[in-house]
Amino acid sequence: MRRSSLKLGVRAALTTAYAYFGLLSAFAQQAPRIGPEAYLDQEGYWPPTSRPVRVCWNSPEPRHEAQRRMVRSAVKEHIENQSGVEFNTSWPACGESDLGIRIAVSDHTWPVSHVGRQFARDPDGRLLRRFGHFGDYQELPTQMTLNFQLDEFAGFESCRGRNDECIAVVAIHEFLHSLGFLHEHIRQEAASRQPRCAQALHPPQDFHGFRPLRVGDYDESSIMNYCNNIYRGGAPRLSVGDLAALQLWYPRN
Ligand SMILES: [Zn+2]
Repeated sequence: MRRSSLKLGVRAALTTAYAYFGLLSAFAQQAPRIGPEAYLDQEGYWPPTSRPVRVCWNSPEPRHEAQRRMVRSAVKEHIENQSGVEFNTSWPACGESDLGIRIAVSDHTWPVSHVGRQFARDPDGRLLRRFGHFGDYQELPTQMTLNFQLDEFAGFESCRGRNDECIAVVAIHEFLHSLGFLHEHIRQEAASRQPRCAQALHPPQDFHGFRPLRVGDYDESSIMNYCNNIYRGGAPRLSVGDLAALQLWYPRN
């Protein structure tokens, strides 16, 4: 009895396993094989010892309270809830010497962010230590500027009537910069994959990182790719490749 039930058990387990692997291989044939796809500056990484990363607002204005809340919640939903990234829970006004990510808000500036964690460097980009050749590297704040009136800002005409969606999309794009993500459209593959767009968008001043790393395939649908119209409407969305790259670089514990 025990032996036959054991045999039956083994057979059932094998049958289940064959069915399972059959399903898996059928799935593997059909599913698009998308892994992490990103362009990263490895020197912009925030190691676990630096988390939660402190975020603060530079001279926050009462009129922007709703937009600040919207940004906080978009970053929580699309970055922290999807990965091992952790920011401080509520973002206060910045103190004079606060490190971490410092966000300024301007109605007159293109949204922008430093790429990743920042350190003092010499003119050749080499890291400087606190005491000449000794001591820790000198950490600097990661500066970010957001614009909460994108619907009135030149270059963001498609945000008219959809200002809130655009604020959220831009915030996520800038926060991925602040975590070390570079623009996907400046990868060399863009020239062959999206030649017209890449040629139009390749500003020579764009930042290629101190130690850039191309991860996986070129991602046409990345939220970090200007060739992908990230202001097309609807909720902000990381591409499958963005999400996989974020989870690879900042895995959950
Ligand atoms: Zn950008």
